[in-house]
Amino acid sequence: MAFLDGTTLTNKPSAQVSDDAHGYYTLGEPLVDPVAPTGPIKDRWINRKFENRLVNPANRRKLDVIIVGTGLAGGAAAATMGEAGYNVKSFCYQDSPRRAHSIAAQGGINAAKNYKEDGDSIHRLFYDTVKGGDYRARESNVYRLAEVSANIIDQCVAQGVPFAREYGGLLDNRSFGGVQVSRTFYARGQTGQQLLIGAYQAMERQVAEGTVEQFTRHEMLELIVADGRARGIIARDMVTGEVETHLADAVVLASGGYGNVFFLSTNAMGSNVTAAWRAHRKGAYMANPCYTQIHPTCIPVSGEHQSKLTLMSESLRNDGRIWVPKRAEDCDKDPRQIAEEDRDYYLERIYPSFGNLVPRDIASRAAKYMCDEGRGVGPLVGDFRRGVYLDFADAIGRLGRDAVAAKYGNLFDMYARITGEDPYETPMRIYPAVHYVMGGLWVDYHLQSNITGLFVTGEANFSDHGANRLGASALMQGLADGYFVLPNTIREYLADGPFETVPETHPAVVEARTSVEERIAKFLSINGTRSADSYHKELGHIMWEYCGMERTEEGLRKAIDMIRELKADFWTNLKVLGSADNLNQSLEKAGRVADFIELGELMCIDALNRRESCGGHFRAESQTEDGEALRHDEEFAYVAAWEFGGEDGPPVLHKEDLLYTAIEMKQRSYK
Ligand SMILES: Cc1cc2nc3c(=O)[nH]c(=O)nc-3n(C[C@H](O)[C@H](O)[C@H](O)COP(=O)(O)OP(=O)(O)OC[C@H]3O[C@@H](n4cnc5c(N)ncnc54)[C@H](O)[C@@H]3O)c2cc1C
Repeated sequence: MAFLDGTTLTNKPSAQVSDDAHGYYTLGEPLVDPVAPTGPIKDRWINRKFENRLVNPANRRKLDVIIVGTGLAGGAAAATMGEAGYNVKSFCYQDSPRRAHSIAAQGGINAAKNYKEDGDSIHRLFYDTVKGGDYRARESNVYRLAEVSANIIDQCVAQGVPFAREYGGLLDNRSFGGVQVSRTFYARGQTGQQLLIGAYQAMERQVAEGTVEQFTRHEMLELIVADGRARGIIARDMVTGEVETHLADAVVLASGGYGNVFFLSTNAMGSNVTAAWRAHRKGAYMANPCYTQIHPTCIPVSGEHQSKLTLMSESLRNDGRIWVPKRAEDCDKDPRQIAEEDRDYYLERIYPSFGNLVPRDIASRAAKYMCDEGRGVGPLVGDFRRGVYLDFADAIGRLGRDAVAAKYGNLFDMYARITGEDPYETPMRIYPAVHYVMGGLWVDYHLQSNITGLFVTGEANFSDHGANRLGASALMQGLADGYFVLPNTIREYLADGPFETVPETHPAVVEARTSVEERIAKFLSINGTRSADSYHKELGHIMWEYCGMERTEEGLRKAIDMIRELKADFWTNLKVLGSADNLNQSLEKAGRVADFIELGELMCIDALNRRESCGGHFRAESQTEDGEALRHDEEFAYVAAWEFGGEDGPPVLHKEDLLYTAIEMKQRSYK
C-alpha cells in the first residue's frame, strides 16, 4: 500500500451504463460538494478551520440554533455550541436527553492514539475506514474524522468517562472488525451510555448556564424553510398534543438512523426517520439510502411475535470463535458434544488474515451462507435454523472465566437473561440483524445539507462510512461531528447572521404548521381496521426479504410494487385510536410508519439502480467467483443523492463523483 499525500487524482469519474431502475427515477444535474477542500490531505481540515470565519462572542448571543437530537451527535453539539455562547434549543422525543438511542452502544469508540504501538496512525484509521466502506465514502471527510478521533478521547477522559484501563492505569484498547490494530476504547459493554452521560452532563451544564433550552418529549414533525433557508421546525408536545412553532437562525438535525424501517432491528424502538424524511420532502437530498448495515452478532429471531432484536457487541469477536458444524446432521446436537474436527470455524478458514474480525458485511453474509447451506444451528424458525455459534470455550481456557467476565460480563448476563442459556457453559447463538444505516441526508464538507442553514450530524447524515461502517466508528463520528466539526463549520454560516426575523405569519411557517395539523387530522380520520404497527411489520418483512442481506433486480422490483400497494392501503385502512390533544402513541407511530413506507420505496429504487455490490449493499448479480462483493467503480463510484420528486413524481437522482487522491481504489480483500 503506497502512502499518497492527496495531491494527485487516482481515479476517474465513473460513467453509468446499466440502468436497472429505468422508469423509477429521473436523472438530475450532477452534484458537487461546493465546499470540498483540496491540497495535501493532512492540511485540509487544519486550513479549513482557519479559513472559516469567526463569530465574535457578543454576536453569538444574538444567534439561535435549533438542534434536534440529544444522542452523542446532538448532545455534544448542544454542549459545545452552548458553551460557545449561542442560544441553543435542544429537542428530543424521549423524556430525558439521556435516553437517546446512543445509550445502547456497547462495544467501543475508535481513535488513532496508537497506545499499543501496533502501527496505528491517523492515516491508517483513515485508510481502514475508506477501505472498510468499500471505497464509497468521501476521503476528505474520513481523514478529518480520523484526525479528530484522538481529541475525542481526551475530551471524554476530561469529562470523567470511565474508559477501561489496564493494570498500570493506562487506557485499554481492543480490536474491532476490519482492522489489524487495537484502537477501540471502551467502557465495559456500555461505552455509549458512559459517553452519553459525558455529553449529557456537559449539555446540562449549559442548561444551567442558560445557553441551552431543553425540550423533551417534543417530536419534530416539519422543517420550516423560509426564503430559501432552514429557519425552524414545527414540533408536537407529545404530552399535551400542542403543535408548536420554533424559529432560529439555523437548524441542526442529529436525529439518528432509520434502521427501524426493517421493523426488526437492534435500534431503540423509537428510532425513526421522520425528522430526516420531513426535511427530505422539503428539498434535502437523501444520500445512498440503500446502504444498510446488517450486524453479524445479534441474538437470532425466535418467532413471529418479536418487536426488537438484541445486539451482542462486536467486541465479543475479539475472543469468541465463530463456527458451525461441518455436517448438517450435527446441527441439532448439543454443541459441546461436537468434536473439534467436526467444527467449521469458517471465518478463520476463509479469511485467515482477519479471521473472526472481518468487517461486518462479510461476517454477516458468511453466516447467511452457512445457514442457507443447511448448517445453521438453534431451533427451527419455520423450516430454517437461523444461527451460528460464538464460542468462548477457548478464551475461558486461555484467560480464565474471571478475565472473560471482566471484559464481557454484562453482555454475557444480557444474553443469559434473553435466551435462558449460560454462555460461559455453552456457545452463544448469533445471527445477523439490521443495525445501522450508512445512508442519510446528504451534507457537504461543512455538514450542511443542500438546504441552506440545515446541518445534519451523526447517523442522520451519510457522510463518513461509505457502503459499510467499521465497528466503533459511529460513536467516533457522532462525537467528532458534535464536539469538533460542526462548531467549526457552522460558524462560517452563522457569521452572516443573525438573519432577518421570520414572523409566525410568514407563509412558509403557516404552510409548515398547517401541513402538520392536517396530517394529524388525516391520521385520526381514516378510521380503518389496521394498526400502524401492523403496516410497519409488513413493511419490515418486505424490506428484509428483498432489500436485506442480498438484493436482486427481480426482488427489488417486486418490493417496490408491494410497498406501493401497502402505502395505498395505509392511507385508506389505517386505524389510529385516541385523540390528538394528549399522549397518543398510536398517533406518533402512524406518522413514523407513513414516513418509513416512503423511505422503504426510495431505498429499493436506490438499491435497484446500483447494479454493483459494495459493502452492505450486495446485489446477487454482482459477485466474484468466490461469492464476495464485486464493485463496478467505472459505473458507480458516486454518491447517489436523491431529491424528492413530489407527491406522485419519481425521485430525482443527483450523482456526486467520488474522486480520490490519498487512496487507491482496490478490490477489498481480508484473506
Ligand atoms: C445496540 C447498538 C449498539 C451499538 N454499539 C456501538 C458501538 O459500540 N460503537 C459504535 O461506534 N457504534 C455503535 N452503535 C451505533 C451507534 O450507537 C449509533 O450510530 C449512534 O449512537 C447514533 O448517534 P446519534 O447521536 O446520531 O443518534 P441517536 O443516539 O439515535 O439520537 C437521536 C436523537 O434524535 C432525537 N430525535 C429523532 N427524531 C426526532 C424527532 N422527530 N423529533 C425530536 N427528536 C428526535 C431522539 O430523541 C434522540 O435524542 C450501536 C448501535 C446499536 C443499535
